[in-house]
Amino acid sequence: MKDLALDFDASEKSIIESIEIVKEFISFLEEMKMYYYFPFSEMSEAVIQTQIKVDSETFRLTDAETNIKVAWKKYASGIISKLCTITDTSNHSAYRCVLTFYGPYGYYYTPDTIYVNITKGTPDEWIETLLHELLHLIFSEKIESMEHLEEERFIDSTFVDLFGDIFPNYKVQNI
Ligand SMILES: [Zn+2]
Repeated sequence: MKDLALDFDASEKSIIESIEIVKEFISFLEEMKMYYYFPFSEMSEAVIQTQIKVDSETFRLTDAETNIKVAWKKYASGIISKLCTITDTSNHSAYRCVLTFYGPYGYYYTPDTIYVNITKGTPDEWIETLLHELLHLIFSEKIESMEHLEEERFIDSTFVDLFGDIFPNYKVQNI
């Protein structure tokens, strides 16, 4: 991988996109007994906008955005030098990380979007989640044919190989 550009995005428009994505895999999350937050029974525009406003205050979105950027700055050079050692088939080097309240800890949307749930965890843990999802995107062609659990095992072991010394507390989990 040559280089990495990462933009953080906490816009209402992107949070609404995350709701659309999560809506489609709620039953999967239930089945896998994964943590998620999705307080919508009705999905009208007004309900969604009001809920986002409430959650922005409850979970202090502005602070979260500042804090994840600070954490990213702290680790970025170490992370990027590790990523330079891997060979991947994707030509992508620019990614977007959306901060949201909804869904599991993290998820992704190919080819270039990562969603990080800021309702749980610390900024360092958000970076771990971000990297886990980034690996899903980087290796999306390679893991395409894998079963879900095999894919997660591959991502987790790649994470530990690459970033184990930077994040020794990384918990191998279903994210
Ligand atoms: Zn995963």
